[in-house]
Amino acid sequence: MPPTKVKAIVLKKINFRETSVIVHLLTDSIGKIHGIMKGVRNPTKKIPPLAYQQGSFIEAFVYLKPKSGLELVTKPEIIDSFNFKDEAGILWHRLLSDLDRFIPASRFNSQEIYDLLVQTGNIIPQVKNHRAIELLVTERILYYLGFGPFLEKCLVCGKSENLYFFSGKLGGVVCSNCRARETTAFRLPPKHIQVLKFFHKIPISQIPMIKYIPEGLYKNLKKCLDEIVEYHLVD
Ligand SMILES: [Zn+2]
Repeated sequence: MPPTKVKAIVLKKINFRETSVIVHLLTDSIGKIHGIMKGVRNPTKKIPPLAYQQGSFIEAFVYLKPKSGLELVTKPEIIDSFNFKDEAGILWHRLLSDLDRFIPASRFNSQEIYDLLVQTGNIIPQVKNHRAIELLVTERILYYLGFGPFLEKCLVCGKSENLYFFSGKLGGVVCSNCRARETTAFRLPPKHIQVLKFFHKIPISQIPMIKYIPEGLYKNLKKCLDEIVEYHLVD
């Protein structure tokens, strides 16, 4: 089979043997792959290390196997290194490490997640409020993967009134009547649910306009997302 040309973000890189690397790539079209780039660390090949570092936005060729496994990846070229310094770099790498844990290595239509990641890489240098981008990206990815948060109706009875609780196990809101039956649910102020809905709707380009997120609000929203991860994505 001829190789597939992909654009991808490097979610993770592991040095392998003397001169190779294993990479986890979130591609524009074929989902997430685990690949091997052979010999790229051999200096005579003159491949810049940024072409396979975590966080880099690259173009490469993938030789897809009939069954999934370690795919051969060749000719990596940098589109944008997204090589941020200091706090922005720490944030970018933490987001990618999280996503690498959340997203299974499988073939799927990864366009939405890929677009979100490229937009995130482009916008990070302008964003001062790192909490905002962390919440938005985590929320969006969990949602694209089908884990929630689902905020419109009680996930036990389907009603849309008195939605004052949140269950990470169910992936969304629970009403006060059903709360007793759903022991994992915790109270969440209606205003905070509104903010979570707001994060779900706004384009990522508007993130630089969010100047401040109060501590209590941040902790609650983080707890909602963390509990979804804990119930559904941690082994
Ligand atoms: Zn209910």
